[in-house]
Amino acid sequence: MQPKRVLIVGGGSAGWMTAAYLNAALNGAGRKVADIGLVESPDVPRIGVGEATIPNINHILAVIGIDEVEFMKRVNGTFKQSIRYVNWLHNNGDYYHHPFSRFRPGPIDSTAHNWLRSDRSIPFTETVSAQPIICELGLAPKMLGPGELQTPLTYAFHMNASKFADYLTEWSTARGVTHYVDHVIDIQMAENGDIKAVQTKNGQDLEADLFIDCTGFAAILIEKKLGVKWVDCSQWLLCDRAITMHVPYEQHYLGFVRPYTTATALSAGWVWDIPLQDKRSLGYVHSSAFLSDDEAEQELRSFEGEHTESLDARIVKFKVGHREKAWVRNCVAIGLAAGFIEPLESTGLYLSALGAVILCEHFPLGDDMAPLAYRFNRTMANRYYEILDFINMHYCLARRTDTEFWREIQKPKRINDRLKAKLDFWKIKPPSAADFEDQWFPGQPDTPLPSGDFPGDHRSPIDTAGLWNHESYEAILYGMDFLAAECDEWFGKNRPKPRMLKKILETLVAAPRILPLHEVWLKRVLGMPDYPKSRRKTGA
Ligand SMILES: Cc1cc2nc3c(=O)[nH]c(=O)nc-3n(C[C@H](O)[C@H](O)[C@H](O)COP(=O)(O)OP(=O)(O)OC[C@H]3O[C@@H](n4cnc5c(N)ncnc54)[C@H](O)[C@@H]3O)c2cc1C
Repeated sequence: MQPKRVLIVGGGSAGWMTAAYLNAALNGAGRKVADIGLVESPDVPRIGVGEATIPNINHILAVIGIDEVEFMKRVNGTFKQSIRYVNWLHNNGDYYHHPFSRFRPGPIDSTAHNWLRSDRSIPFTETVSAQPIICELGLAPKMLGPGELQTPLTYAFHMNASKFADYLTEWSTARGVTHYVDHVIDIQMAENGDIKAVQTKNGQDLEADLFIDCTGFAAILIEKKLGVKWVDCSQWLLCDRAITMHVPYEQHYLGFVRPYTTATALSAGWVWDIPLQDKRSLGYVHSSAFLSDDEAEQELRSFEGEHTESLDARIVKFKVGHREKAWVRNCVAIGLAAGFIEPLESTGLYLSALGAVILCEHFPLGDDMAPLAYRFNRTMANRYYEILDFINMHYCLARRTDTEFWREIQKPKRINDRLKAKLDFWKIKPPSAADFEDQWFPGQPDTPLPSGDFPGDHRSPIDTAGLWNHESYEAILYGMDFLAAECDEWFGKNRPKPRMLKKILETLVAAPRILPLHEVWLKRVLGMPDYPKSRRKTGA
C-alpha cells in the first residue's frame, strides 16, 4: 500500500509537533504509513511567547523519542510543578496552588468532605499534595542522582516554544519529513470538494491526500478556503490580548528559579510569570474593552518594577473560541487554527499535541475519512468545552470588586450554563470521579454539536474529565473559597484544624533532604549559567 501523502501547512510548534509525532508513531521499523511534508512561510513569524506546558508533554516527547535532558537544554527549559494563583479571590496577596501531583487515599476519598468540615487553616491542596510546599521551598521535582521520592512528583516544563519548533524541525527533517520554506498563496480544490494542492510564492504546487492546517490564527485552509465557522467564546472569557516582555537574568535575577508558573490577577486580567534558564517571560493577558494597550503596558511595567524601563514590550492579540469542526473533508486543523481558550492553565500546546495524538489514532487507511473526521471532531469539541468551563470557573469564582473588569466578570451572564450546572451540583456534594462517569449534570443545557452529517446524533458536548479530573476542580474550587459561607452555616464556626494526609507529611519530611533546589538542578544537569542576584524588588 502506498503511504498517504500528508502536507502540514505551518511550522509553529503545532505544525512541528504534529510532523514529529505522526512520523514517529506511524513510520519506522520498516513501515511507512505516511509521507510527511511541512511547508512554512519565511514571512509570517510564529506566535512564540515563553510558554508553560502540562504533563502530557512527557507523552509527546516519549513517543517522538526525545531525551528529557537534551530537550530542556535545547528549549531553555525549566520544571513546572504547579500554577500559583495570586490575588484571584481578593486583591490582598493571597495565593493558592493548582499542583500536578495529588495523593488520593483509598478505598474512599473523603478528603474534601473532611476539609469542608474543618476550620480551613491549612489550604485544601496542602492537605492532599506535597507539591505546593515543595514549590514554595523552590525544590526541583527530581533528584540529582538516581532514586526517587516515595511519592513521585508529576511535572511539566516551561520552555521557549519557538526553540522547541526549531529543535523539532531538525529532528523531523533528519528522520524523513520534507521541509519547504515557502509562503502559500493559493489553494486548489479537487472536483469532489477536497483540497487538491497548495500553491506557493516560489511556484511550487504541493499535492497531498491529507492537509493539516497549522497556520495559526490565519487558518488559511480550514477557514479562508473551506469556510469552517469559528465558535466564539468571548462572552465567557473577556481577555483578548497580552502585553509580553522578557526579563533577561543579566538585567534582573531573583536569585532562584521558581519550579512553577505564577498567574497574578491585575486590574483587567492576569500576568503570567514563566521562568526559563536565561530569563523570565511575562505576559499581561487582559481585556481591551477595559484597558488600552498603553495602560496595560504601564501596569505591567509598574507591577514588575523599574528594571523593565529599558525592556521591549510586544502586543499579542488573540481570539478565544474554536472551530465548529476541526476536520472537514481532507483537511484537519491543529493548533491555533483549530482553537484557543486563552493561556490560563497553559492548554495551547496541550491542544496541539492532543490534535496530533487523536489524528494519529484516527489516521485514514483508505479514502473514507468522514467517520474518522466525525469522531475526531466530537473528541476535540468535548475537550474545548471542558477547557472553556474550567477556565471560566477561575474567573467567575473571583470575589474581587476593585475594578470594572472584575465586577463584570462575576455577572451571571459571564458564567456559561454547563459550568453553572456543575457548580450548582458541587454545592450539594464535593466533586468526585463518578461525576464524570455519566458526564451530565442536572440543569446542563442541551445544545447539540453539529452532527457531521451522521443521522441520529443529537448529543451535546460533555466533560469527560479528559484533562482535569475532580481533583483539579477541587483545587480551584477550594482555593477560591467555594462554599466558605455555606460551611460556616452548616458546621458552625468552631471547627477542628484540617488534617494533612500521612503520606503528604512523610513526603514533606523527606523532600528537603533528597530534592535539590530547582536552580541547583538546572545548573548541575543542564549547565545553566550563574547570574548575580539583583537587589531591586519585583512585583512578580
Ligand atoms: C498570548 C498567548 C500566550 C500563550 N501561552 C501559552 C502557554 O503558556 N502554554 C501553551 O501551551 N500555549 C500557549 N499559547 C498557545 C501557543 O502559543 C500555541 O498553541 C502554539 O504556539 C502553537 O501555535 P501554532 O503553531 O498553532 O501557530 P503559530 O505559532 O502562529 O505558527 C503559525 C505557522 O504558520 C505559518 N504560516 C502562516 N501563514 C502561512 C502561509 N500563508 N504559508 C505558509 N505558512 C504560513 C507561519 O509561518 C508559522 O510557521 C499562548 C498563545 C498566546 C496567543
